[in-house]
Amino acid sequence: MRTVTFPGGETVPALGQGTWNIGDSRATRAAEIATLRRGIDLGLTLIDTAEMYGDGRSEQLVAAAITGRRDEVFIVSKVLPNHASRRGTVTACERSLKHLNSDRIDLYLLHWHGGVPFAETLEALMALKRAGKIRYYGVSNLDLTETKAWCQESGGEATATNQLLYNLSRRGIEWDLLPWLRERGIPVMAYSPLEQTRLFKNAKFAALAKASGVTPAQLALAWLLAKDDLTVIPKCSSPARVEENAAARDIQLSPAQLAELDKIFPPPRSARPLEML
Ligand code: NAP
Repeated sequence: MRTVTFPGGETVPALGQGTWNIGDSRATRAAEIATLRRGIDLGLTLIDTAEMYGDGRSEQLVAAAITGRRDEVFIVSKVLPNHASRRGTVTACERSLKHLNSDRIDLYLLHWHGGVPFAETLEALMALKRAGKIRYYGVSNLDLTETKAWCQESGGEATATNQLLYNLSRRGIEWDLLPWLRERGIPVMAYSPLEQTRLFKNAKFAALAKASGVTPAQLALAWLLAKDDLTVIPKCSSPARVEENAAARDIQLSPAQLAELDKIFPPPRSARPLEML
């Protein structure tokens, strides 16, 4: 199985599971829990959530899905920027721990940059780590300037990841942010890897998937997984889809297929503002 090692030495599976918009409806709850559990069976044990998702309902659904299996999974959650003060970060983390029914969050991220000085958030994250409530910390949606500023603060050097919008149609980070993180051994966590299915509407992309004998979701995931230092967190709501997505780990794209994807979705030719969803 493809794995990625964070600074600090923790090795996690390259393919995990997202949970945005999960846990909001009683009608879909059982399928969502079954999906996460099937994903864990298949080795997709990195599960990404956030206090923002459904105002805690996503974290609560994750708790239900991992009942009896806490030690099998690596849980990522996030603090909202407006909670990211010294005291607010600790309060938010404790609330997330209750929702998750867990004594620890494996990786805790600042969801995006708000008004709170980075030094203050980092102070709280370091205190949470010392207390054993989180094991690692990192950021999400920070552009290159912000990432540099974050990493320069005390504690910033221990940043485990920057979770970023990255998929075939959103390649802007390849220009500068991705290389900068790579040089420092900080793996990117690629969110919305399927562009929330909008990728599938590209006729040339759909045709390439068909000609390659894979599904569009598998082609999009295989392209990301071909880069050996990314974690990738697609979200889905059925066990059949999680099986389909897990099979992307076994797809090796040829140089010709990769070149064709570059033609359909060209890499950036200049710096672009960071995109986020
Ligand atoms: P995504 O994973 O790119 O796409 C999710 C959509 O793809 C869902 O509609 C899902 O449908 C569909 N899908 C999944 N597998 C499929 C398959 N094999 N065939 C066809 N459709 C398939 O989008 P995302 O949820 O925005 O991103 C993934 C995760 O990244 C989130 O859940 C969240 O954990 C994280 N995220 C983080 C941020 C941030 O700011 N840090 C922002 C966005 C997302 P069904 O659900 O109906 O199966």
